[in-house]
Amino acid sequence: MKLDPTSADFRAAGHKLIEWIADYIDNIDSYDVLSRVQPGDIAKQFPEAPSREGRDYDALLADFQSKILPGITHWNHPSFFAYFSITGSQAGVLAELLTAALNANGMVWKTSPSLTELEVVVLRWLARELGLPDGLFGMINDTASTNTFHALVAAREAVGLDIRRSGTSGRDLPALRLYCSKHAHVSAEKAGLALGIGYENVVKIAADEQHRMRVEALEEAIARDRAAGMLPMAIVATAGNTSTGAIDPTRAIGEVAAREKIWLHVDGAYAGSATICPELRDLWDGIEYADSIVTNPHKWMFTPIDCSVLYTRRPEVLRAAFAPAETPAYLTLSDTADVNYMDFGVPMGRRFRALKLWMVMEHYGIERMRAVIRDHIAWAKRMAEEIERRDDYELLAPQKFSLVVFRKVVPGDEAASEAATQRVLDAINDSHKAYVSSTRLGGKYGIRVAIGNGATEWRHVEQILSFL
Ligand SMILES: *Cc1c(COP(=O)(O)O)cnc(C)c1O
Repeated sequence: MKLDPTSADFRAAGHKLIEWIADYIDNIDSYDVLSRVQPGDIAKQFPEAPSREGRDYDALLADFQSKILPGITHWNHPSFFAYFSITGSQAGVLAELLTAALNANGMVWKTSPSLTELEVVVLRWLARELGLPDGLFGMINDTASTNTFHALVAAREAVGLDIRRSGTSGRDLPALRLYCSKHAHVSAEKAGLALGIGYENVVKIAADEQHRMRVEALEEAIARDRAAGMLPMAIVATAGNTSTGAIDPTRAIGEVAAREKIWLHVDGAYAGSATICPELRDLWDGIEYADSIVTNPHKWMFTPIDCSVLYTRRPEVLRAAFAPAETPAYLTLSDTADVNYMDFGVPMGRRFRALKLWMVMEHYGIERMRAVIRDHIAWAKRMAEEIERRDDYELLAPQKFSLVVFRKVVPGDEAASEAATQRVLDAINDSHKAYVSSTRLGGKYGIRVAIGNGATEWRHVEQILSFL
């Protein structure tokens, strides 16, 4: 029995689907950004069991529109400013279609040479366009959280306790310590949990008034830990943190890491993409100290989720940490055919994610992507200036990249300031015309606006200001 007897239905439905997607893109402004459904509303529309005889694509597309779409919050909406605004670009959507059609699995080079080789080529391009050091090994995984976990498994391997062979249980080992700023993304702590380090050993280092890791505090923590017989394993520096875009002082942190022989992982998940603009490369100051780096093209480089890039200058350690026991530990990597990506991480099966990154970079070109990112940053700056001009509002952090964090101020009354800020945030989100999120800095509650969608124009940003 053939699953699909012919391609006739596919062809007809496929043409309709492309038309539907094009209409969706053209009319995205007319959608509510935030879904209006209540918990359970979506689930209860579906039967207890799937169809016995199957249903045709027209029926499914009708269900998609009437039952599923109402429960979608439109991340591809130009007025989506919450968390990090992302873009499922047209080039990216087409590439995803091809990826699905090929359904290639790039476990090893031989299982689809183009999958491995295009990943190598595109990540070499990307490293150069971002101004990263030469000679980095790159791989694509789903998310920055996964990549940070992978990097920190390599860091654990690098401490020299032969954990690859003997593991961490049933042995008398020193406490392994992981350092990050108190403003680091939760993925650092999660990696610590998954590594079996325990959250008590994920050390949150104090930050300065501009939300950057304090290097003296890091040095003190390392010295204290060593004196107590603990083993510093890795430092995570954040290049553009999630709340405010602040940049930890990677160079000074890197000097500490080099002196102390501690793995340095640099998290540029959000801001990394912006460094395709040469004038923004101070993000990477000191990056030559990094043992590993993560950046997400699925955040600010117009590539549909998921596509996160891990770079390391020590691929032999990453491979030692993940290659199965019987794989020889030597590493040549002199040829793309030597790159069997399954040996460098947890997943064995690998999607062809490099195809969409290739399609996005080549279709738009570096100059167009730069221009879009520069607009986003210019609009964030303009928004911040408008807020600073007002007596009843204040910025909670210096405006960085495309992020603006601000609050309404009721002089001398913190509780009233918070309540007033909450009311403004609720008014924006309850309008369903724009979506913003919040953060807390130094105990102060603020509205956080992240510009980053490829369809956003100044009028969408201006709409936020109309609520203030
Ligand atoms: C968004 C973000 C992450 C997490 O990214 P995922 O791909 O969702 O795991 C990690 N670090 C920083 C700095 C981020 O902004």
